[in-house]
Amino acid sequence: YFGDNPDYHTMHELKRLVYLAPVEKILNLARAHSIWPLGFGLACCAIEALMGANGPRYDLSRFGYEVMRGTPRQADVMVVAGTITKKAAPFVLRLWEQMAEPKWCIAVGSCAISGGPFVDSYYVVPGANKLVPVDVYVPGCPPRPDAVIEGFLMLKDKILDKRERLQNKSKVVTG
Ligand code: SF4
Repeated sequence: YFGDNPDYHTMHELKRLVYLAPVEKILNLARAHSIWPLGFGLACCAIEALMGANGPRYDLSRFGYEVMRGTPRQADVMVVAGTITKKAAPFVLRLWEQMAEPKWCIAVGSCAISGGPFVDSYYVVPGANKLVPVDVYVPGCPPRPDAVIEGFLMLKDKILDKRERLQNKSKVVTG
């Protein structure tokens, strides 16, 4: 209550114009609109889906997510796109451990979700979640590039903590 304070109107105007929020929320706003992926791929999904999404036709850069980083220290999200062989698994895990917090993971394609067509083979890890915590799953063999973009947008909603929108989206995906 500012009473007769002559600055009352100035304070009132300031309160109308200045939006106060926790620092974490403001940081998350920036993070959600500039998610930089680690530039790596494991098999066909990396070419068909991830690089397809990053190409001129689908243009992932419209959303600020195209800056593929060559080092895990500068990457925000690991997109596991392709088959994870047991030989490659230690390298995937090492890359994940070298990424700084906060970090996220998107599993792209059947192989990254569950081993895909190779699930019964002796040399394949049956899903990225056996190695790292996965935030978003994008199904398909391979998924379409626009599905990959949808995965990024779901991750954006997760970073911004928009649970209601996420629930509605997953209902649309699962039917
Ligand atoms: Fe290849 Fe299909 Fe596996 Fe993707 S899900 S890496 S397209 S076999």
